[in-house]
Amino acid sequence: MAGGAVIAVLSVASEAAPLVKTGGLADVAGALPGALRAHGVGMRTLLPGYPAVMAALEAPRICAEVPSCFGGPARVLRARGGGLDLLVLDAPHLFTRGAGIYLGETGADWPDNPERFAALSWVAAEIAGGLIPDWRPALVHAHDWQGGLAPYYLARSTAAGKVASVLTIHNIAFQGLAPASRLGSLRLDPADFTPEGLEYWGQISALKAGLIWADRLTTVSPNYAEELLSPAFGMGLDGVLRARRGQLSGILNGIDTQVWDPETDPLITPYKAAKGKAANKAALRAEFGLPEAEGPLCIVISRLTAQKGLDLLIEALPALLERGGQLALLGSGDPGLEQAFQAAAAHPQVGVRIGYDEALSHRMLAGGDAILVPSRFEPCGLTQLYGLRYGTLPVVALTGGLADTVIPASPATLAGKVVATGVQFSPVTAAALGAALGRVCALYAQPKLWRAMMRNAMAHPVGWDHSAAAYAQLYRDILGEST
Ligand code: ADP
Repeated sequence: MAGGAVIAVLSVASEAAPLVKTGGLADVAGALPGALRAHGVGMRTLLPGYPAVMAALEAPRICAEVPSCFGGPARVLRARGGGLDLLVLDAPHLFTRGAGIYLGETGADWPDNPERFAALSWVAAEIAGGLIPDWRPALVHAHDWQGGLAPYYLARSTAAGKVASVLTIHNIAFQGLAPASRLGSLRLDPADFTPEGLEYWGQISALKAGLIWADRLTTVSPNYAEELLSPAFGMGLDGVLRARRGQLSGILNGIDTQVWDPETDPLITPYKAAKGKAANKAALRAEFGLPEAEGPLCIVISRLTAQKGLDLLIEALPALLERGGQLALLGSGDPGLEQAFQAAAAHPQVGVRIGYDEALSHRMLAGGDAILVPSRFEPCGLTQLYGLRYGTLPVVALTGGLADTVIPASPATLAGKVVATGVQFSPVTAAALGAALGRVCALYAQPKLWRAMMRNAMAHPVGWDHSAAAYAQLYRDILGEST
């Protein structure tokens, strides 16, 4: 552990595994506090009091009342839950709802999402200002647009200049937009509604607020940090980021190597007992109704959206199937993509499950040979990291964190001592993906080579250690502390 006192940090997140999860943000928010402990950081996590969170609280106690919290009364609870040290914004008028945490029954955003997460961010700034009698953070670490207003409220509060702030961008595609007419209901100063401030093409952007008012910005891979500065990836905010490039850095995500451990995972046949993947693969084939095959069993675990490039896989699929490969896909999202994959499942070598199923995702990683991640953009990506850990070789687009985490098979990385851990393709087109799938089949047909790549992949460090140290160092830099 680095020297000096423990740094108190308030993490502000709209989801955190294992309590509530829709994507990679939850994995990061859930894993970081534990990983940071060894680096002298005491992190508490402020979460919305969704029903799933409230139900999981251990020994909650009220530590603050917030009589007027964006349309109703609220309380801040202190509790343990899901292995985390939590502060929970118990605001039934905002968070006690069925359906999704962001989406209502019809699949559309909850209309008051701007207020719901503004409330979370506002309470974070209040906590920084001393709302809770016995604990005050030195630094607020906000995540994505849902925490984006926290640095803004902080800068406008009594804690300004006393408590520092970091904003992490997990995905710049989600910008937290609201009509300008909501300035009042969001407790924003109309004087800040300018192009240099909260205004984004006539609307309010909570993410942009964070990009401007946070002391430091991070994103989840060094490569995405570079990409974000370009119009092709910055999604309209690249200019704002270029202006703050000196405060922006990329810190790679890790994964929880205890949850994702092929030797001890209770959801699979552990590799030692199973002599590697064999038993898991047979079980996975049976589960997806796939026959024995000569080629690799490729898997996909993903949200089905344009970002993930899975429309390209529909087009490129023949390149895999013609060479005796197979596909098992788990995902949900865009109805058109769901239908396209359901139609593709008519092929005997293709199995598809539409839905979200954490346990099945473990069985797929244990049984698959390769995991396909053909994303058009990917801030970090987690499933390729799970793939490395389970020796399920990642086949990834050369973008974002995918480029930072996979050593691509090439004449250089296969010559002499094999160092490759997967396959990469570029540009992100169906043709290039098809060619990559051809390369995967050719590599798989050379068992010695494939096994060497599996060994490399499984030995590749994918845990949080390195990145937790980088976050801790960043906090110390901001607070002006030496290590
Ligand atoms: P994103 O956050 O953009 O969705 P990431 O790769 O960073 O992408 O994280 C996705 C997380 O969600 C991973 O933990 C992945 O295993 C999980 N996931 C995505 N879709 C499913 C699904 N249908 N069933 C189970 N887990 C899923």
